[in-house]
Amino acid sequence: MSAADCIFCKIAAQEIPAKIVYQDDELIAIEDINPAAPIHILLIPRKHIPSLDQAGLEDASLLGHLQLTAARIANEQGIATRGYRLVNNCGEWGGQLVMHVHYHLLGGRDLKWPPG
Ligand code: AMP
Ligand code: ZN
Repeated sequence: MSAADCIFCKIAAQEIPAKIVYQDDELIAIEDINPAAPIHILLIPRKHIPSLDQAGLEDASLLGHLQLTAARIANEQGIATRGYRLVNNCGEWGGQLVMHVHYHLLGGRDLKWPPG
């Protein structure tokens, strides 16, 4: 799938509506449309990278920024005290449906381990 057809590129460009939690020059954070926990936020880089597997060393600071922003949002959302989970689904067996790299920030309930 090219960036032109990518739903997360369109959300980042605000061509498709989303509930935006935070955005800056590098990323957008939105509420997941089908939440798996009371807090379920997606952290999406503006750069179209199809999956974590296809990220390169040049993306290291961007990926770090995504993770640290997730931690900050977790604090702002009040889920950091009890704990939360930051997830990247990569590829078919990893459960990745949208081929634009993103992290899921999940919290607000006692999350089970291991995931299904
Ligand atoms: P993944 O399976 O890791 O690729 O996750 C894709 C996530 O994107 C799922 O949790 C979906 O619920 C979510 N999603 C898909 N389309 C939208 C949308 N238009 N707005 C918000 N979240 C979406
Ligand atoms: Zn994209």
